[in-house]
Amino acid sequence: MDVFISEYASISLDKIASSDCSCKSRYALLFIKAFSHLFAINSSKSFSNYKASFVKKATYKSDSKIIVSNNLCFDNCTYCLFTNDAIYVKIYSVLGILMFTNYSIGIIMRLVNIGITKEGIMKSGKLKLLCVVALMVIIIMSVFKTQNNVDASTYSNMKVHYIDVGESDCILIESDGKYMLIDAGNNGDGDDIVDYLDNLKVKKLDYVICTHPHADHVGGMDDVISEFKIGKIIMPNVTHTTKTFEEVLDAVENNGLKLTKPVVGTSYVLGKASFVILSPNNYDYGDNLNNYSVGIKLTNGKTSFVFTGDCETEAIDDILDNKINLDADVYMCGHHGSDTSTTQELLDAITPKYAIISVGKNSYGHPVDSVLKLLNDENIKTYRTDENGTIIATSSGKSITIDADEYNFKASDKTVSATDVYITKTGKKYHLSGCPSLSKSKIKTTLKDAKDKKLSPCSVCNPPK
Ligand SMILES: [Zn+2]
Ligand SMILES: [Zn+2]
Repeated sequence: MDVFISEYASISLDKIASSDCSCKSRYALLFIKAFSHLFAINSSKSFSNYKASFVKKATYKSDSKIIVSNNLCFDNCTYCLFTNDAIYVKIYSVLGILMFTNYSIGIIMRLVNIGITKEGIMKSGKLKLLCVVALMVIIIMSVFKTQNNVDASTYSNMKVHYIDVGESDCILIESDGKYMLIDAGNNGDGDDIVDYLDNLKVKKLDYVICTHPHADHVGGMDDVISEFKIGKIIMPNVTHTTKTFEEVLDAVENNGLKLTKPVVGTSYVLGKASFVILSPNNYDYGDNLNNYSVGIKLTNGKTSFVFTGDCETEAIDDILDNKINLDADVYMCGHHGSDTSTTQELLDAITPKYAIISVGKNSYGHPVDSVLKLLNDENIKTYRTDENGTIIATSSGKSITIDADEYNFKASDKTVSATDVYITKTGKKYHLSGCPSLSKSKIKTTLKDAKDKKLSPCSVCNPPK
């Protein structure tokens, strides 16, 4: 059971410090514990009083990025302390080291006072200085040594299955025997997804994320919820009055589950991996449900993966603004390869090595030519579920392998030019690829041809004039 630090007032620091985690944050907390004992003793305040004030401070400083579970980790666990921006961890641990040293010296000095100095072997000032230096060296070395050991020994494999469910999304993530499912395809995909999980002997999904209520994302979720034990189910606080979505809500209720609202910046632990919520950053996107999609960055060791559901331009801009480091190795193209999701700015922020597109037969022109061109221009190795079927990416914690053939960019992907526009069979306007007006028919042509036909530019997508 995960408890956020803002809610953990009842959990003792002893329990946290003794929790079994490879993360260096544990050592920081051990020091904090020593510090708090010292503080409690010195100020004769009761320990629990002190603990309460510490919890308040930690909550404020950490932006609820610390979580407590069987493990205790900060955001991006394996990078924390000395290697990432978790500045408060560093401050606390240095403070902790100093206080711990001081505390230890207090004990030694007491011993010294009883014994050695009485004999006049060494003056206490010099001895104290010597003790300070020695203890500091020992403690700092042990922290660094621990870090090296952690790097070598705690990486473990994580598998990300981009399950082929046609023009929809379904991703299974597996780390250290723990599982998470992001979306569950269309209504008709439920049984196949259940079979897929059964084949892997999945019994429990520790996390389920329903990115947003559209049928191509929550379609098979009712089957999944009814079939497997579910830990936490994360869903944005928006509704949709479709039968498909109602079935999901019914399944949630019938199985006694509670929905968890995504809070940007909150991290969760999944086996040896962890993930942080990137979106939704706002609940004021009007009725474009895509923009409320739950986005996450999933991290295993030094590798990471970004998922943005169907977030479109507005929501993507908010993700870019929320200051969470997006740098990742694998990017799953948002909204099935729509150009409203995969933007140059987003790719610049993620700088992925690999891109995955979950797409099937569709009338929207997904994946959009300009997205393929962007991926090709940026030399991003690209994989598509419509060509590869299910794609499995394996992270060792240090590197990633993908068990599918790379998509061969076609000449046409590479030559989308600013003068390419799209028309429909009967419409009087010409459009940019991805314009909603192209949902029924989409014919690629040149700007010159569109003008020759006396078509006018669409006022929604603003193609070149
Ligand atoms: Zn959608
Ligand atoms: Zn979708």
